[in-house]
Amino acid sequence: MKPSATARGPAPVLVYGPWSPRYDLGAGHPLTPRRFGPGVDLLRAMAAEEPRLLAPEPAPDDVIAWAHDRAYLHTVRRRSEAPLGPREAGIGPGDTPAFAGMHDASAAVAGGSVAAMEAILRGDAPHVFHPGGGLHHAMPDRAAGFCVYNDPALAISRARREGLRVLYIDLDVHHGDGVQAIHWHDPGVLIVSIHQSGTTLFPGTGFVDELGQAEAAGTSVNLPLEPATGEDAWMAVLRRLLPELAASFGPDVIVSQHGADTHAWDPLANLRVTTTAMGEAARLVDAIAHRWAGGRWLATGGGGYDVYRVVPRVWSLVWLAAQHRDQALAIPESWRTRWAADAAAHGKLPLPRRLQDDPGAGLSVDGVQTGADRAAAVTSELVRDLTVPALVRAAADRGWWRALEDLAVDPDGGGSPGGEQGAAWADRVDPGWRRPAGWRPAELRRPMILDSVDATGWQALELRPGVLAPADPVTAHRLIAAALASPDAVRVAVAIDVGRIVGAVVSATAGTETDAARLLLAVGVAPAWRGRGIATALLRGHLEASPRTTRWVAAATVAERDPMAPLPRATRADLARRLLEGSGFTVRASAGAIGRADPLAITATR
Ligand SMILES: [Zn+2]
Repeated sequence: MKPSATARGPAPVLVYGPWSPRYDLGAGHPLTPRRFGPGVDLLRAMAAEEPRLLAPEPAPDDVIAWAHDRAYLHTVRRRSEAPLGPREAGIGPGDTPAFAGMHDASAAVAGGSVAAMEAILRGDAPHVFHPGGGLHHAMPDRAAGFCVYNDPALAISRARREGLRVLYIDLDVHHGDGVQAIHWHDPGVLIVSIHQSGTTLFPGTGFVDELGQAEAAGTSVNLPLEPATGEDAWMAVLRRLLPELAASFGPDVIVSQHGADTHAWDPLANLRVTTTAMGEAARLVDAIAHRWAGGRWLATGGGGYDVYRVVPRVWSLVWLAAQHRDQALAIPESWRTRWAADAAAHGKLPLPRRLQDDPGAGLSVDGVQTGADRAAAVTSELVRDLTVPALVRAAADRGWWRALEDLAVDPDGGGSPGGEQGAAWADRVDPGWRRPAGWRPAELRRPMILDSVDATGWQALELRPGVLAPADPVTAHRLIAAALASPDAVRVAVAIDVGRIVGAVVSATAGTETDAARLLLAVGVAPAWRGRGIATALLRGHLEASPRTTRWVAAATVAERDPMAPLPRATRADLARRLLEGSGFTVRASAGAIGRADPLAITATR
């Protein structure tokens, strides 16, 4: 079947079919299949054309086993046939009750998200939305928080089987703990979850110190928010962090979870986000996908328990974002009439007249929200300092290059730089890489070290991948070119191999106009050239080339890594310490909130 192509390329696909409403945890359960009626109905009414549908089918056991233990599958199958009984493996009386046919219905949710990822990988559609998906709490060996099988984790696993790097963005009000647990050890999956803090909400996890381990250290990013955090503070956190994290990581595909339970009216949680902000968030994710992931984007639904007034509007806004359509405001009167009686039966009248909310969804800002909003900004800065490379932060803070502004490409314009770039530099991790003619092993050559390169010299050189953040070397090259042209007295030392930069050290003045104090922003060497003392030679030359500098400062957190080929966290920290101490720095463990969240973070002075 040939997809219905438009001028913008293939239209997005909606994952929905007869299996979708069969995931039914019982009468009175908050995650009700009743949401599909008004939800899909409104989405259809708001869209200009009938959606291309992909009907989910149950995933086979071998697929579910990518993320779940076989013993757990057997338990789910057994309880599917005999739902009555005590709680086991998280199934039973409580959040995730057993029901007849539970295995097949849960496997169909999983199958929907895996099939959605396959449609994206085949190029059938750049964007797919699976509103019934997003069951992000399911753990390898147990059900949790209304979730039996973890469909977003399985969709991620599907992309990983092709060697693709995945950015997972979890916007549900609850921490995406299951996805984090399942991909905790994988450095090829960056998991970013923005949620109400675990101190006040299920599942009680998702704190800033959950950063991942070993090679994957720095690939779990958590933003816990206080109850009553408002829409502007929530959106500011997303805008501040998501573009910089995406640029630094370099994903091939995005998976996002759009739980509608962040909404101010949600009965199970306490944030004060609006549909307006959730629509903006979906458009931000779309822009990130186009700029950094070749447009590949799988959006799922998630929580959301105001099923007449909130969930349908959020689904519609995600769908409109995937269609790159201007955000229609008015909800058709026919939809309001159709669902009025159902909404009344559940005490949810009046039905809204517009997709977007009034400011604050009609709630006024009080002192609690003001405090929560302020806390969100503080947490956002802490997480940024921990998880975004220093060079990317400095670039934004000093105006050389901003990841958010770099998203401003037309998704319908075709040939977006991110799309082509994303495809082009995937080969750097491809084990099938072939040696070009005239290739000699790098170890036979010595790079030329230049203690300082000016803007003109930099422009004449090509930057190899894996030297400096952001992950895309074309963007990293542009960032440094802008830095060298700025009044920030940026200095760059480079190691050059036949016109290509294979190593670099970057510094800038430390906040003041004078050259007395300098901040070391980045030290990097391309993978093939590591372990040969190039970083040490570069750093020593760089320090000597700045004779008027009397004080040097450096800080390295878990963010300072090669996202394509990261070393174990302890090895990274040890290398950074030895490099700095070898050049006369005094190195200490970072103090304060940084040190508490990332015990191997270091601060160095010279
Ligand atoms: Zn798009």
